[in-house]
Amino acid sequence: MSLTLIKNAEVYAPEPLGRNDVLLAGGEIAAIAATLNLTGSGLPLDVIDAEGLLLVPGFVDPLVHISGGGGEGGFHTRTPGMRLQDASCAGVTTVISALGTDATTRTLTDMLAKAYALEHEGISTYCYTGSYELPARTITGSVRDDIILIEKFIGVGEVAIADHRSSQPTATELAKLAANARVGGMLSGKSGITFVHVGDGAERLDLIEQVVANHDVSFRQFYPTHVNRSRALLEHGIKLAQQGMTIDFTTSTNPQLLSLGEVSAAESLRDALAAGVPDTHLTFSSDGHASLPEFNTHGELIGLQVGRIASLHEAAKEALALGISLPSVIRAISTNAAQTLRLQNKGRIAVGADADLVLTGSDFSIRHVWARGRQLVQNGECIVTSHF
Ligand code: ZN
Repeated sequence: MSLTLIKNAEVYAPEPLGRNDVLLAGGEIAAIAATLNLTGSGLPLDVIDAEGLLLVPGFVDPLVHISGGGGEGGFHTRTPGMRLQDASCAGVTTVISALGTDATTRTLTDMLAKAYALEHEGISTYCYTGSYELPARTITGSVRDDIILIEKFIGVGEVAIADHRSSQPTATELAKLAANARVGGMLSGKSGITFVHVGDGAERLDLIEQVVANHDVSFRQFYPTHVNRSRALLEHGIKLAQQGMTIDFTTSTNPQLLSLGEVSAAESLRDALAAGVPDTHLTFSSDGHASLPEFNTHGELIGLQVGRIASLHEAAKEALALGISLPSVIRAISTNAAQTLRLQNKGRIAVGADADLVLTGSDFSIRHVWARGRQLVQNGECIVTSHF
């Protein structure tokens, strides 16, 4: 077992811990102290001089389409799956994957195999069972059984609402799904969250409000994404976040989406905090490897780009430039998703937590990345890459 000792880093856990030495051993954080000295111990030791650098938890991205998502321009526009370095080089050490619009040519079993591959290559992976439509696609025939029996499945999603591509679910259908996912989570010690894709329909989050008003289901069972899609949706999301729901902002975007009214993730975070939402209930996801369609003024598809995981880190830098504090930004890109999804050893720097760490310059540029104690990025360069 090799040990890594990071010396003199400014540690944000996410709360500031001050200047510390941090020891990584056996894939975990073994010790944090003002001074740790192992020279002369005879142990195989890798020492990193982190003078003037910031040590933060590895980023947790709660929505990536690891095996590719979408392809709304026909088969030739099906987006490709991710490689290890797409995440690790951008500081992301944990991804949670969903299918997406296409649950016909893309399958949960294929996504699960990809999740095992990425885990083998170095990062941590989890998945949502289900898909855009209801009844949800599953492996075992039941959302509840998938969550209980398949280790990587921690909830259900992306279930689409307020979208012309959804299956137009009723409140009762959504309530039953959320209840099943919750019981599956309770019995297996997982979050059992219902992760919701919110489209650009005028009903926005109304369906979730109806479910909570008329069924024995709480806001905390839902985790909606793309809440920064428009100003009106953002304001609706802020209202529900004030009632205990965690809301997620998408960082992959393009100039056209922003010109059509999307609010950047960084500005959404700033505005939600200013409206009094606790900084524990706001997250960023990249929507990496989803399709980003571009339409002309006649509504015809003229281009299709792919969501990038690296946009998570870019949005974090934008948020810092807007004056949001580093602990609040770290919560948005790491800690809060881990807590909402009950990934207990992720999203924080503490003794016993997984040694998922990012060492950055004072400008938050990425220097070194470790995932479960193994270094994947060194001096800004990916030193471990996917097999293909
Ligand atoms: Zn989506």
